[in-house]
Amino acid sequence: MRQADRPAPPASRVEFDVIVIGAGGSGLAAAASAAQAGARVLVLERGERVGGTTAMAVGSISAARTRLQRQAGISDDFDAFVEDMNAFTADLLAHDNAPLRRMLAEQAGITVDWLASQGVAFAGPYAEPPHRTPRMHNTIPGPGAIIARLLRTCQRHAAQVQTGVTVQRLLLNAQGAALGVEYLHGGSVCQAMARGGVVLASGDFSGNALMRHAHLPTPAARATPINAGNLGDGFRLAQDAGAVPVHMDKIFGPQLRFSRSQHRGLNDVMPSWPWLAWLSAKVFMHAPAWMLQPLVKSLLIANMSPSDALFKCGAVLVDKAGVALDSTRPAVSIALTAERAGYIVMRASAADQFRAQPYFISTAPGIAYAYLGDYERGRPDIVHYAADLAGLAQALGMPSDAALRLAVGQSLGDDGDDGGPWVALGPVHAMLTTTEGAVKVDAQCRVLNLQGQVVPGLYAVGCMGQGGLLLRGHGLHLAWAFTSGRVAGWHAAQQRSGG
Ligand SMILES: Cc1cc2nc3c(=O)[nH]c(=O)nc-3n(C[C@H](O)[C@H](O)[C@H](O)COP(=O)(O)OP(=O)(O)OC[C@H]3O[C@@H](n4cnc5c(N)ncnc54)[C@H](O)[C@@H]3O)c2cc1C
Repeated sequence: MRQADRPAPPASRVEFDVIVIGAGGSGLAAAASAAQAGARVLVLERGERVGGTTAMAVGSISAARTRLQRQAGISDDFDAFVEDMNAFTADLLAHDNAPLRRMLAEQAGITVDWLASQGVAFAGPYAEPPHRTPRMHNTIPGPGAIIARLLRTCQRHAAQVQTGVTVQRLLLNAQGAALGVEYLHGGSVCQAMARGGVVLASGDFSGNALMRHAHLPTPAARATPINAGNLGDGFRLAQDAGAVPVHMDKIFGPQLRFSRSQHRGLNDVMPSWPWLAWLSAKVFMHAPAWMLQPLVKSLLIANMSPSDALFKCGAVLVDKAGVALDSTRPAVSIALTAERAGYIVMRASAADQFRAQPYFISTAPGIAYAYLGDYERGRPDIVHYAADLAGLAQALGMPSDAALRLAVGQSLGDDGDDGGPWVALGPVHAMLTTTEGAVKVDAQCRVLNLQGQVVPGLYAVGCMGQGGLLLRGHGLHLAWAFTSGRVAGWHAAQQRSGG
């Protein structure tokens, strides 16, 4: 090796029991769990803030046999939970990881209770068919509260959490066991060694355009990632250690979503004090609907998916030039346009149906609904009215009204001259919440190699450690993120003295 090719010697080398790469939901769960088990823990997070995609989520967690279920008089069982989860992915069962599915069913309830024991407040459980019984637990005021409480647990147990730190390499011994990590901190190369294990919790790869185009179907590859910061680094790190990627081509999306609100909602600014969250959860479950509006409406209109019913009730999907798109697959159609954005256009009289049940513009399933009036008040930036199509095209910055007129004519069977005013909702985008690809793991979240053997010292959790589980249905990704993190953290902590 030439001198110039040699890696620079590390500026520092520190020793811990457990090292966690990534401080999203799964990473902080791993860190908190390992620290509670007595391990000395270091968490390394690339972002300037902790939270990752987890902090951007809605905060639904589906779980069975929780304390909240028991309080609501619901008796549940794991076989039923597995069967119901399977109903969401009936078309994909041959590709699923049955042992991990079982582990998730058995452990998710323990995870919800574990989070609650740290001061996280939940409302629910709520129904979400085909789940046969209510299983959806919603974090109050949002998943930022879980991040804050896990961070607090880490601090209480003296775990170190460093932000602005990118892990670049796993340190492996000659037998391929993971001994530690190499990371960049303030321009210096540092090393940290782990006696018990290294936990990969670096999230999905939706922010990496090269990986999206290499693995995903074209519409998903072209879609906009909600968390552009998840670059899939963990896949390279894991593969260097012999890990096996699985389901890299699988994704449930893209989804049609409104652009994100520039304003911070109540759930963004509300402090994560446990007493306040507890009180909010009580209010959430027992107060009349009008009292809940401020708490949930800001979330519901932030950047949710518009209801498909819009297209069944006279809405037309167009691109930014007004050209008609296929509204039976709205997100795919939008992803394939040049600007990857468009508008939902309809007569104001048709849109008026969306001012009350049974039609809504967006929903947090089973919890609350947002109607046209909520969008008019809370998101005037994405609700555009005009007396006629010429005025609407102008308001939306379209080059002319010709394409829009044609789109309306094709879809509604008229030229749109009569029956205004018109309303456009948008822009709407094709967005990716998360990719399903991961590395193979066992039920302790230990990374497996091509021979199916454990890579010693290496764990993968959250999206990185989904291990072939296909998580369709609300609340299952967070259930897996926090459960896999909790389980891996505990096991890694046991290994610190060779246990
Ligand atoms: C809008 C939205 C709403 C959602 N709502 C729900 C919901 O209600 N319920 C549900 O179940 N699921 C939901 N999901 C999905 C869920 O949020 C994710 O699947 C889950 O949060 C993933 O957690 P994670 O810990 O694996 O990854 P993340 O939370 O993304 O954490 C990964 C972290 O690793 C860091 N990192 C990456 N590479 C490195 C590196 N080299 N060095 C150091 N750090 C690194 C990243 O910066 C990031 O902070 C939602 C997703 C979105 C986008």
